[in-house]
Amino acid sequence: MGEKTFDDAYPIKDGYKRFDPRNTAFSRSFRGDSGAAQRDNAESREEKMVRNVPGYTLVDYSFSGAALTAAQASHSGRGQMNSGFYSWSSLGVAVKPEGVPRWEGTPQEASKILKKAGKYYGASGMEFCETDRRWIYSHTGDGRPIVFEDVEEGYVTEEKAVIPDSHRWTVAITVPMEVEEMMYSPTALNPVSSMGFSRMPVVAGTVAEFIRGLGYHAIPCGNDTALSVPIAIQAGLGHIGRHGRLITWERGPMVRIAKIFTDLPLAPNPPAPRGIIEFCDACMKCAKQCPSGSITEGPRTYEGHSEANNPGALKWYCNADTCLQYWREVGSGCSICFRVCNFTKPEGISHDIVKWFIRNVPQLNRFWTWTDDLMGYGKMKDPRKYWDTPYEPG
Ligand code: SF4
Ligand code: SF4
Repeated sequence: MGEKTFDDAYPIKDGYKRFDPRNTAFSRSFRGDSGAAQRDNAESREEKMVRNVPGYTLVDYSFSGAALTAAQASHSGRGQMNSGFYSWSSLGVAVKPEGVPRWEGTPQEASKILKKAGKYYGASGMEFCETDRRWIYSHTGDGRPIVFEDVEEGYVTEEKAVIPDSHRWTVAITVPMEVEEMMYSPTALNPVSSMGFSRMPVVAGTVAEFIRGLGYHAIPCGNDTALSVPIAIQAGLGHIGRHGRLITWERGPMVRIAKIFTDLPLAPNPPAPRGIIEFCDACMKCAKQCPSGSITEGPRTYEGHSEANNPGALKWYCNADTCLQYWREVGSGCSICFRVCNFTKPEGISHDIVKWFIRNVPQLNRFWTWTDDLMGYGKMKDPRKYWDTPYEPG
C-alpha cells in the first residue's frame, strides 16, 4: 500500500497557529480554566495507602514515584527547557578538540551513525525530518516567545528563546515503555510513563552531546519547546491513533518521544507505512473504555475540545481537560487507553503477522478488533499478584 506524505495524511488548515504551551491541560487546571483539580486528592491517596488498597499501596506509589528519579534529579523533568540533560549548550562531556576539524559526512552517513549511537544509548526508535516550524511552540511555558534567528547556537534569556535558523534538521527519538506494567493501569502500579520520562533526557541529552562532540550544535527537548507527535510522524516513526497518541508499528503506543533540533545535516525519513489510521477508523476500543469519555468514536476532525487542543490539523483530538480531570480523581496517570489499545502487544510472531494484514488487507480490520476482545487482550491485571510475579522484560 502506498505511503502518503505528511500533509496528505494530515491536512493542515490555512491559518494554523503554533501551539502555546500555556494552554496545556495542566496549565489550564492550575489557572482554574478547566474542570480539572490542580492536584491529585492527597487525602484520598493517603487513605488508600493506609488501607493497603491493591494497586495503591505505599509500595506501589513508591515504585511509580521513584521511576521519575533520573528526570527529576537531573533537573530535566518531563521537559524542562534548557535545563539538566535538556541543556541547549554543551555539557562539557564530549568536546571536540579545537585543533580537529568538525566531522564531515553525507546526511545519510550522519543519520546512520546517529541512529546506531542513539539505539546504543537506549532509544527504541530514531528517525529524522526537516525542522517544521509549525510544531515549535509559540512561547515557552512561562510566556516568553520562541523565535528564530541567524545565530550559531540556541539560547534562552529572560525575554525569549532563540532557535537558530541553521537548525534545519530534527531528530525524533522514542524510548520504550513496558507492556507488562502498563497492564496494571489505571493503578499506581504503573511506573512506565515516569520511567519513560526518566529515559528521555538520558537518551536525548546523550545524543545531543554526541552531536556536539562532532562539532555541531544541538537542542534536546522532552515535552518542552515543540509538539512531539507530529515531529515523530514526519520522521516516519508512526501515526497518530484515535486516542491521540503516537502509534509505532514496532511498539504500538508504548513509547515516549523526545526530539533534538540540530545543524548537523540529516537524511529525512519517509512516512511510516499506512494502516494505523485506517485501523483506528474501524476500532473504537479506547473510546469505548475511556472512563472519562475523552476519546471520540467519531471521525477525525479539525476541531479540538478546548484551548488544550491545537485546532487545524485533521486528526482525532483527545479531550485533555476531561482526561486530566479523571487523573486527578483516580490519583494516578490512568493510561487505560494505552492498556487497551490493539497495538499494545508484547513482541511476537503472531502479532507481526496481524500487523502485516493490517498494513496490507484493511478489509480484515474489524475481524482483528473482534478477535482482540475475544482473546482478552488489554484486560487489567490483578495488582495483588504483581509483586509475587518474577520480573519479565518487555
Ligand atoms: S488516559 Fe484515561 S482518561 Fe485519559 S484519554 Fe486515556 S483512557 Fe481516557
Ligand atoms: S484502541 Fe483501537 S481505536 Fe484506539 S488507538 Fe488503539 S487501535 Fe486505535
